[in-house]
Amino acid sequence: MVDIRGVHKSFGPLEVLRGVDLQVRAGEVTVILGPSGSGKSTLLRSINHLERLNRGYVSIDGELIGYRRSGNKLHELKERDVLKQRTHIGFVFQNFNLFPHLTVVENVIEAPVSALGRTRRAALEQADVLLTRVGLADKADAYPRQLSGGQQQRVAIARALALEPKVLLFDEPTSALDPELVGEVLDVLKDLARTGTTMIVVTHEVGFAREVADTVVFMDDGLVVEAGRPSDVLDAPRHERTRAFLSKVL
Ligand code: ADP
Ligand code: MG
Repeated sequence: MVDIRGVHKSFGPLEVLRGVDLQVRAGEVTVILGPSGSGKSTLLRSINHLERLNRGYVSIDGELIGYRRSGNKLHELKERDVLKQRTHIGFVFQNFNLFPHLTVVENVIEAPVSALGRTRRAALEQADVLLTRVGLADKADAYPRQLSGGQQQRVAIARALALEPKVLLFDEPTSALDPELVGEVLDVLKDLARTGTTMIVVTHEVGFAREVADTVVFMDDGLVVEAGRPSDVLDAPRHERTRAFLSKVL
C-alpha cells in the first residue's frame, strides 16, 4: 500500500533523511520509533508530499505521490493534483490541529464536503457514525476548546477517517496528552488496527508497539536502522543504536 524508496531530504546543509526505504502492506500497522531529531516527522510529511524530496519517491496504492512519470522522467504535479492525492492520506498531528471556530461535527464534515463534494446530509450521517466510533457522538455540537486533549484527538481521528483514506499517518498522537488521557486515544488506534486500517504511527509508546504493530521500525539519524516484528525489534534488537534507545524508553 505504501512504498517508500530511497528517500532523501535535506534542509539546506542538514541531511535529515538519508535514503529511507520502507514498505507497508495494506491492513498493517507500522510503528516508527526513534530519538528526537531522527527524521520521523519529516518522513511522515514526505509521504504526504508536505515535503519536497531531494531524491527517491513515495507511492501509495501504486500511485506516485507528487509526481507524474513520463518515460523515465518525473514531472511535478500541479498543486490541485497533489491536494487530490492527499485526500487518500489521513494525517493526525500531535497537537490535534482542529479548526477552533468550528464545532466537532463541522470539523468532521468539512473535508468530505469541500474536498470530496459530498452533500452535507451524507457527510452528517457519516460523521455521526464516526463520532460514535470514537465515543464522542454526544459532543457533536461542542467546540474544540470545550473538550479534553484526549477528546480533541479522537475528533481529529474521526475527521481523518471521514475521507476514507487508504492510509492513516499518526505523528506522536499521544505526546501532547496528560498521562491519564493517553489510553483512550490508543484504544481508538487499537480499534482501527483490528478492523484492518493501514496505519503508520510515530510514537514513543513501546507497549502499544508491542501489542498492535505488525512491523516496528527503528529510525536514527535519517535512516531506518532496523525493521521487523515487534518481538524481534523490541526484545532482540540487532543494532547497538536500537538497544541504546530502547534501554532509555523501556
Ligand atoms: P523527529 O520527528 O524524529 O524528532 P524531525 O523530522 O522533526 O525529527 O526533524 C529532523 C531534523 O530536521 C531535526 O534536526 C530538525 O531540526 C530538522 N528539521 C525539520 N524540519 C525542518 C525545517 N522545516 N527546516 C529546517 N530543519 C528542519
Ligand atoms: Mg517528530
